[in-house]
Amino acid sequence: MALMTSEQYVESLRKMKRNIYFQGRKLDNPVDHPLLRPSMNCLIETYDMAHMPEYEDLMTATSQFTGHKINRFNNIHKSVEDLNKKVKLQRLMGQRTGSCFQRCVIMDCANAFYSTTYEIDQAHGTSYFERFKKFIIRVQDEDLIVAGALTDPKGDRSCAIGEGQDPDLYLHVVERRPDGVVVTGAKAHLTGITNAHEVVVLPTQALKPGQEDYCIAFSVPLDAPGITMIVGRQSCDTRKLEAGADIDLGNARYGGVEALTIFDHVFVPNENIYLNGEVEFAGMLVERFAGYHRNSYGGCKSGVGDVAIGAASLIAQYNGTERASHVKDKLIEMTQLNEQLYCAGIASSAEGWQTKAGNYMVDLLLANVCKLNVTRYPYEIVRLMEDIAGGIMVTAPSEADLRSEEVGHYVEKFMVGNHVNAENRLRALRLCENLALGTAAVGYRTESMHGAGSPQAQKIMISRQGNFAQKKQYAKRIAGIHGEGSQ
Ligand code: SF4
Ligand code: FE
Repeated sequence: MALMTSEQYVESLRKMKRNIYFQGRKLDNPVDHPLLRPSMNCLIETYDMAHMPEYEDLMTATSQFTGHKINRFNNIHKSVEDLNKKVKLQRLMGQRTGSCFQRCVIMDCANAFYSTTYEIDQAHGTSYFERFKKFIIRVQDEDLIVAGALTDPKGDRSCAIGEGQDPDLYLHVVERRPDGVVVTGAKAHLTGITNAHEVVVLPTQALKPGQEDYCIAFSVPLDAPGITMIVGRQSCDTRKLEAGADIDLGNARYGGVEALTIFDHVFVPNENIYLNGEVEFAGMLVERFAGYHRNSYGGCKSGVGDVAIGAASLIAQYNGTERASHVKDKLIEMTQLNEQLYCAGIASSAEGWQTKAGNYMVDLLLANVCKLNVTRYPYEIVRLMEDIAGGIMVTAPSEADLRSEEVGHYVEKFMVGNHVNAENRLRALRLCENLALGTAAVGYRTESMHGAGSPQAQKIMISRQGNFAQKKQYAKRIAGIHGEGSQ
């Protein structure tokens, strides 16, 4: 089986005994919990769309290992065309869900692991590549959702890893056995982990000799003993728990989810370990994963941006301001900014290159430029959307007031707009609110800043990849600077 149905996916999660907490309580039935369902619906969509002929080209790929048709989110990129389709798929999914749809992390992790394990084996005579290949073939064939875990909690950032504070603030090996290792620590803001079957874990940053116990990469099922997920608080999240919640959610169907995930003495068998102490390769693994994920943001954030532009256009129409020249101008500016994000995503794919292992890697300079733009433009897009929507976006009455026998008629009467009833105008306003300030803001706004690394991380990569020496040569040649005294 290489493509599951969404029903099979839901049932497969139902069978797992996972430790998921929200607001201090363990969730007995996370699969049907109203807080988590919208985020799971995004994953359900990735299964359903893979079976729809109109999306087959983007949603599926052919495995180079088995020849089977697989979900593209589990693909190892075989060409530049695959890298382009990755970004197009992400834009499509952003447009469909208006949120973070969570499944990209394994695609980006798997491709980074694939090329890096190959190079580790060449340098060290290890057998990580074949192990990882076996893992990804199983993920493809069973059509699994795999989360990725990168960011350690870190505590006091001024302390070196493992020094001056609780060593568990960075996930590390606490016991070595003949059949595997035992790890302890935690990983923060893990996208989609409550909807995943397994997780791939990698170090948080480049490492150096002496930090071997922190240099561990592996995969484990999410019902492995010792794993606990604590769901992150999102703005307005408990609206989902209100009886019959619909309009006030803005996006009742979809959402993202992140969780702080604890690894308390988790056993990892040898066959699931893909990096173990080869400190000089930790940086390559992290850099490649981050590169792929920064390229991804050119797709997913422009897709959600399309929803934001759509919501702004719609509310302008409902408010009767659509024809005002300043509103048109704002919509054009939103579109320009959004397409710039997409341009950099596609460009970093189009300039992709083949790794020693044979899969394709994105252009790191362009991927980092893409993500650095993402740390700014969605904020501006949201600012313009809020400008167009008006203050009513945050002061409008609730759905309960609209349905109230006592005051409902007032809401109906005073919330109307341009040829639109109060209910539909409220729906458009709540969608704007959700994107700007509600649960989707996690995936659209703050994630644009910090997801796939904070802006400073991109600036470091841009300064490394920017090739200033070469650019000086261009300038010198044109300015006629050469010979003695031109250094
Ligand atoms: Fe995918 Fe974007 Fe969410 Fe990352 S932030 S998992 S790229 S949708
Ligand atoms: Fe993300």
